[in-house]
Amino acid sequence: MDCIFCKIIKGEIPATKVYDNEKIVAFNDINPKANIHILIVPKKHIESIKHLEEIDKELAGEMLLTAQKLAKERNLEGYKIVINVGREGGQLVDHLHFHLLSSDAKTPV
Ligand code: 5GP
Ligand code: ZN
Repeated sequence: MDCIFCKIIKGEIPATKVYDNEKIVAFNDINPKANIHILIVPKKHIESIKHLEEIDKELAGEMLLTAQKLAKERNLEGYKIVINVGREGGQLVDHLHFHLLSSDAKTPV
């Protein structure tokens, strides 16, 4: 499958990983739109929120908690969690991901 995020997960394309467990990986966005711009990505290839199923609800919850953990670690007072859905919704990579965005970096990234 020609999916850039699957390739990052397999280590075939380099990325600056900031979190990695058996189900989820997080890495810095290659083209950051804020001081902190991290992508939280499930290792399971799910195309988008449109393709989330009942069986994925625990995984989706863990992705949110991962965003919270990464924000907490960085002492972020405020941040955004953005999910683009579908081409019309600004989604360019067809592998589900949450954007964690903040300009409120109190600690060096
Ligand atoms: P989308 O528009 O699909 O919600 O967001 C895709 C994001 O993935 C963009 O912010 C883009 O900069 C990022 N991105 C695309 N290709 C790569 C890559 O090869 N490495 C990393 N680290 N980020 C990427
Ligand atoms: Zn994928």
